[in-house]
Amino acid sequence: MEEIYLDHAATTPVHPAVLDAMLPFYKEMHGNPSSLHRFGQRTRYVVDQARSTIAASLHASPAEIVFTSGGTEADNMALIGIMAAHAEKGKHLITSTIEHHAVLDTCEYLERQGYEVTYVPVDHTGTVSVEAIRAAIRPDTVLISIMYGNNEVGTLQPIEEIGRIARENGVYFHTDAVQAYGVEALDVKQLPVDLLSLSAHKINAPKGIGALYIARNIKIAPYLHGGNQEKKRRAGTENVAGISGFAKAVEIVMAQREEHRADYLKYRALMLEIWQEMGVEYTLNGHPEHYLPHILNVSFPSIKTETMLMNLDIAGIAAASGSACTAGSLEISHVLQAMNLPEAIVESAIRFSFGYGNSPEQIRAAARKIGGIVQGGNK
Ligand SMILES: *Cc1c(COP(=O)(O)O)cnc(C)c1O
Repeated sequence: MEEIYLDHAATTPVHPAVLDAMLPFYKEMHGNPSSLHRFGQRTRYVVDQARSTIAASLHASPAEIVFTSGGTEADNMALIGIMAAHAEKGKHLITSTIEHHAVLDTCEYLERQGYEVTYVPVDHTGTVSVEAIRAAIRPDTVLISIMYGNNEVGTLQPIEEIGRIARENGVYFHTDAVQAYGVEALDVKQLPVDLLSLSAHKINAPKGIGALYIARNIKIAPYLHGGNQEKKRRAGTENVAGISGFAKAVEIVMAQREEHRADYLKYRALMLEIWQEMGVEYTLNGHPEHYLPHILNVSFPSIKTETMLMNLDIAGIAAASGSACTAGSLEISHVLQAMNLPEAIVESAIRFSFGYGNSPEQIRAAARKIGGIVQGGNK
């Protein structure tokens, strides 16, 4: 039985060229980038080059990129670092009810530290209300954090509009672009964004490495102390192998972005087409037009999420009920709940997410098997 991986929003396989870009740092290239001798100079050069590659992919400058241990740390750094550095302005921040837990749980932590958080709602498509954001801004608001595209339902958020409102009101704006990076064109020269989170393992690089874009001149308080790395914004010897792999993945994904987008949109259409042909009953979750190309969230009202995931796993198909952590504990998705969808839809939602390694043949085979499961057959 062929295994078909349709859970790229949870994590992706490492690209072979990315592994090749990492291996030297587990072998002969062991220097500490902070060392002044030639061993250190060689790895310093690699880190500098990687920083330039990642900066260029966002139209940022290298000094605006801080390497982190992943998307979670980038989100934590953005929220905690900005709130701590701008306490003289106030203790209020604004976010949405559909953020990743890396943002939501950090907000809860900040609330326990005496900060105030406004959680703006979304509509049934998972789109954040721009008007609710505007209305939530107060004189003591320091930061707005709204994700670029949602990891469960794929809905793209009105980032430009929110950013403009933030600028008009002198409020910093952070976006978690972990899912958008690699499939959407991100240009921080055009986008009114001050901070932007990235994670490498969602774009075929290893787990445990990511970055935060911090626009020039924005003060952020470090919370790792101990060295002068990352211009004192994040102490600790750099993950040179991870950084090298991350940059290689960025090169690959940026060169192929349009092809990938087209492929994923084709896969999405193919699945829906096959289900329609088979007469499978489903509903689409998310926005009908503004969505990330690689995420397809559907409900098959006749079969509960748990049962479906179990049957899919038996059929060799990897999918998810939403975010990975939610799936592990089979809690009801906070995103679908925030979208105010009927209970039958929420309890039967499945996320398929496409990526490197998927082929039209795989998608066709998966769609037929899924259709068969929904119809209760063994096809
Ligand atoms: C995966 C993900 C994260 C967390 O990134 P890690 O590198 O796994 O810590 C944060 N936000 C979104 C939207 C994600 O999809």
